[in-house]
Amino acid sequence: MKALRRFTVRAHLPERLAALGELSTNLRWSWHGPTQDLFAELDPGLWQTVGHDPVRMLGEVPAARLDELAADDAYVARVEAAAAGLRDYLTRPRWFQEQTGTAVAGIAYFSMEFGVTEVLPNYSGGLGILAGDHLKAASDLGLPLIGVGLLYRSGYFRQSLSADGWQREHYPSLDPQGLPLRLLTSEGSPVLVHVGMPEGRVLRARVWIAQVGRVPLLLLDSDIAENDPELRAVTDRLYGGDQDHRIKQEILAGIGGVRAVRAYTRAEGLPDPDVFHMNEGHAGFLGVERIREYVAQGLDVDTALAAVRAGTVFTTHTPVPAGIDRFPMPLVRRYFGGAHGESESALLPGLPVERILAFGREADPAVFNMAHMGLRLAQRANGVSRLHGEVSREMFAGLWPGFDAAEVPIGSVTNGVHAPTWAAREWLDKARELVGPELVEEARGWEKLSDVDLGQLWSTRNVLRTTLIEEVRRRLRVSWRQRGAAEAELGWVDEVFDPGVLTVGFARRVPTYKRLTLMLRDPERLRALLLDPERPVQLVVAGKSHPADDGGKALIQQVVRFADDPAVRHRIVFLPDYDMSMARYLYWGCDVWLNNPLRPLEACGTSGMKSALNGGLNLSIKDGWWDEMFDGENGWAIPTADGVRDEHRRDDLEASALYDLFERTVAPRFYDRDAAGLPVRWVEMVRHTLQTTSPKVLASRMVRDYAEQYYGPAAAAFGTVSVQDYAGARAVAEYRRRVEAAWPSVKIVQVDSAGLPDTPVIGAELALTARIDLGGLRPDEVAVQAILGRVSPDDDLSDAETVPMAHVEGEPGAEVFEVRTPVPLSGAVGYTVRVLPHHPLLASDAELGFVAVAGA
Ligand SMILES: *Cc1c(COP(=O)(O)O)cnc(C)c1O
Repeated sequence: MKALRRFTVRAHLPERLAALGELSTNLRWSWHGPTQDLFAELDPGLWQTVGHDPVRMLGEVPAARLDELAADDAYVARVEAAAAGLRDYLTRPRWFQEQTGTAVAGIAYFSMEFGVTEVLPNYSGGLGILAGDHLKAASDLGLPLIGVGLLYRSGYFRQSLSADGWQREHYPSLDPQGLPLRLLTSEGSPVLVHVGMPEGRVLRARVWIAQVGRVPLLLLDSDIAENDPELRAVTDRLYGGDQDHRIKQEILAGIGGVRAVRAYTRAEGLPDPDVFHMNEGHAGFLGVERIREYVAQGLDVDTALAAVRAGTVFTTHTPVPAGIDRFPMPLVRRYFGGAHGESESALLPGLPVERILAFGREADPAVFNMAHMGLRLAQRANGVSRLHGEVSREMFAGLWPGFDAAEVPIGSVTNGVHAPTWAAREWLDKARELVGPELVEEARGWEKLSDVDLGQLWSTRNVLRTTLIEEVRRRLRVSWRQRGAAEAELGWVDEVFDPGVLTVGFARRVPTYKRLTLMLRDPERLRALLLDPERPVQLVVAGKSHPADDGGKALIQQVVRFADDPAVRHRIVFLPDYDMSMARYLYWGCDVWLNNPLRPLEACGTSGMKSALNGGLNLSIKDGWWDEMFDGENGWAIPTADGVRDEHRRDDLEASALYDLFERTVAPRFYDRDAAGLPVRWVEMVRHTLQTTSPKVLASRMVRDYAEQYYGPAAAAFGTVSVQDYAGARAVAEYRRRVEAAWPSVKIVQVDSAGLPDTPVIGAELALTARIDLGGLRPDEVAVQAILGRVSPDDDLSDAETVPMAHVEGEPGAEVFEVRTPVPLSGAVGYTVRVLPHHPLLASDAELGFVAVAGA
């Protein structure tokens, strides 16, 4: 018989062990080994069974065992010490508290998924785990950050395989009461967030709080009796359902999320956040809700928009156009429109429907684009690696017509990973011993690793590889049992993988651009690598395909079928159900982390960073983070065939380069041993990676970059526009209206040059004078620039230098601007002059997207 519903009853803890309750509900345990040890010791076997989940552990451990440990003074003392350590972690001033420059009152960080721990499986992959690492690093650094997202009844799917290697999906449902969550309450009763739906319906959600160290994570949950069955199901699954389902989720996350933040800060007596961070476009509706709030306070829409923009940061995560979240315009109109076709939004009273729709406009008028909305509602935006910043500036250049891609105001912050979560205990303990706790908690002191003995490093690598192999065999056995094999047929599983063999990992989601099967391009060559008698390679592969993507499932099946062959199955495995609990073993134990995306479609990629943190050497296409962090000594770059148009040929070329690297460089180096059996060159690369790459890939570095380059400036901008009853926002709104009205008449009437001799040499001074009609704007309301650079036969400028021109005289309609500047280049040089709007409260002169160029 199946239960209709489930719920979890928490055990009553003996008084002397009461602190275990506190330790189980703050997710800091997920990156704090000593706390995990305390739970494991309650019952090591049960700890495995409950999937390393402290809350479940306390629910299931027999009372007699708890009583026994309550009488054990040494255990009780360790519990007390761990609890005291947690309290100290939660209250001690940290990096942020030592900063004097940036005054940030609070940051609300919105994401559709959060991967904090496998115990709270509220993520599908990279984006969610990045968000989890962001919260953890924000906690370590003491940032006043609040996470906001949804709590899904069954998270993302769990993957298994059919006998013939086809992906199967399962959606086990979660009981929030059994998770490390508490309800947001007000005066003793649960807070319910309300969001309007079409036809006068109301979507309600309760708000769960997961405590991630110092950072609260608010998760909205619509599965409550107050909703009708359709609305109860809004938070049923991550990335499940159709567009209609998805827009409801995004409305709840964005609009409901802001309402949850307000309820939370009110309940806790905290200041209102001044910075709102949209982690990808899904959360973009938070911006229109904030405009509504200001309009309700009496601001006009333009002023409200200026205020919202000042404090909003938007991060884009995908260079794949298909990866961008887009809705049919009529669907958005249905949710945001007026009740009876009125022009005012019923969901967001005070906002004209057309204004809302315009935020998401793109080239295709039938489509509402969430990334475009993010860019229009945020004054600051970024991609997630240097290369991705560049690609994003090109991809979104259409929103800034007339500007070169390089000038599009989208920057970059390279992603990072949370070391205490992803580095093996062995490394963390070694670090504490060598450097003190800073390395672990504050990510300092990596340079001291240069003193570590190579033999020691190698023995740790060997231990981690062996641990991985045990996990590979365990999971492979479970998988084969699920595929229908009998235990008696599985003796060979104990012989899978060899602790002395070069171990390569490839694990990621399975969209086409990641090219899961590139390694199978030439199956014979792969087989030869795996079975090489002298220098074999063993390969562990994992990854989930989106449930609706049969193409991806076919790729998985191809790998599974190859790996099922008895001739190679001891050297290559596909492990189903890639998630955080599996991934960590791979990052710890793989010698080489393989990544072969189609450049430049990998925005950043973080799995390789986690491998590097453990001394893994990356072997990757130079895409995402590897494009900027490959240094010749921390791994290998697979040469790309970027220019080659024919996809198949490109795959052939890149696959062949991949095999070459393994055959000629990677395997020989791994097996090149000194008299003591040590692969000296290899371990030197490991040490170099730990010492110089690790500090760059840390989430603490990433969050510090956000704090300094984005949150601080956004909070400052918000402060400036909001003082004196939003006088600054009014000024920006008023300025923007004037620019929009004036711009069609802004013209560069005439440009004259003087000063150059007949045969100028580099450095000769050029004097430029421009006469400009400003269409009614004042000279101090624009920036006039001379652009000098190399010129092509058809007059395109490149390597251009921008020189500001000064206003010298004039009259309305013919203002004169001048500059004297040395010619920066030799050869064919050209120049032009342009005008941009300029206002001290804008983040850049490109922000409004207006430019007038001479002659255009
Ligand atoms: C880090 C991580 C990812 C993201 O890795 P990519 O390199 O960005 O593909 C996905 N899933 C899990 C379980 C991870 O730990």
